[in-house]
Amino acid sequence: MNLSEKIRNIPDFPKEGILFKDITPLLKDSKALKEAIVKLADLFRDYEIDYVVGIEARGFLVGTPLAIELDKGFIPIRKPGKLPYDVLKISYELEYGKNEIEIHRDAIQPGDKVLLVDDLLATGGTTLAATKMINELGGEVVGCAFLLELAELSGREILKDYEVKSLLIE
Ligand code: AMP
Repeated sequence: MNLSEKIRNIPDFPKEGILFKDITPLLKDSKALKEAIVKLADLFRDYEIDYVVGIEARGFLVGTPLAIELDKGFIPIRKPGKLPYDVLKISYELEYGKNEIEIHRDAIQPGDKVLLVDDLLATGGTTLAATKMINELGGEVVGCAFLLELAELSGREILKDYEVKSLLIE
């Protein structure tokens, strides 16, 4: 199946000038969803992984089924104020403004090997911030997995210390 046909381009969302990649058609199609998750898992089956860590919100939609497919547990990284227990927070710069994400401090133990997942790699800023939190907790990022990578934004370059793999590259 051509999975890229299942990702819809929405111009000027959520702001003018942004071409939003809408993965909801892929999620809605059971065959496309299954194929995407199995193929993304295939890219990392040989890796030693303890946990899959997904970034809110679409990283949950991809990360949780990916964790099941790889037979691993899932750890969420969330927007501020959502996680109920003791959290580690990080702030990072976006194209417009600042963003913050949090993880439970006890989610990662020193030496844990994690696969980081999000739906899409754009500038890489979000994933880089997530790697910093995992490193600070003593974990090791063994890979970063994306359904779709926007190559022209060069997110791969700021993640050069990590193994970055995307199912689809545009
Ligand atoms: P970045 O930190 O720039 O790599 O942005 C990654 C995050 O923003 C991911 O969680 C994406 O879901 C979202 N994102 C960035 N650009 C787009 C886009 N053009 N279409 C859909 N989502 C995007």
